[in-house]
Order: sequence, then C-alpha cells, then structure tokens
Amino acid sequence: MPLIGRLTVATNAARIASLHTELRMRTKWKRLLVTVLVVAGVVLFGPSQKIEHYSCHNCRSLKDVSVVSFFGIPGRPKETLQLSNQITERHVHDWWEYSVYKQSGLFGSLSKRVACKPTQFKDGQGRVER
Ligand SMILES: [Zn+2]
Repeated sequence: MPLIGRLTVATNAARIASLHTELRMRTKWKRLLVTVLVVAGVVLFGPSQKIEHYSCHNCRSLKDVSVVSFFGIPGRPKETLQLSNQITERHVHDWWEYSVYKQSGLFGSLSKRVACKPTQFKDGQGRVER
C-alpha cells in the first residue's frame, strides 16, 4: 500500500475511534443529566407538609400537629403543645382545629394553602391566661 493510502486508513481509524469516544461521552452525559433531573424531581416534588393547629377552649391550650409526607406517604406526626396553667386534673381536652397549613414540594415549591377559622378558640374568645 502506498504511504498516502496507509495514512488515510490510519486517520480514518482514528476519526472513527474519536467518534466512538464522543458517542460514549454523550450517552454518559445524557445518563448523568437524567439522574440529576430525577434526583432534583424527587427532592423538589417528593416532600409535603401539613400542620394542623388545635385549640382547647376549656383550658386555653394550643396544640400543633405537623406531618411530613414523602410522595403521599405520611411520616410520624409531631405534636407541639402549649399547655395552659389552668388545666385541672380531670380535664379532657376538647381539641378544635382552627387552622390548617399545607404545602407540597420542597419549601412549598408546588403549592401552599392555609385554611383558617375566624377565631383561634371555639368560643370566639382570645387566649386569656388567668
Ligand atoms: Zn383543654
């Protein structure tokens, strides 16, 4: 084979090899991009939170129940109590939900909703500590 012909063959082979590498790189990048998008989607759209606010008009105590869900599967509810000093020994709380806060997506990136009743306590009076 003449020298020029051999060189052409060699260049072609190198070109094909580099094309292959480029293609492989492209699929690698594509896979990486898809992975990043899936992870971002899961992080962004997976979590949601619901906070329920309750009050007991008999003793003026407040209770918050917060539930974090992941793709609609709720986790363990977390209760925060603000107990009043008027609770008698046999007192049974009459919890009344006065407000609900819901958010979906990370930090409420998809939606946020608040539903409030006009008063914090069932009897319409404020939180009076006596
Ligand atoms: Zn109570």
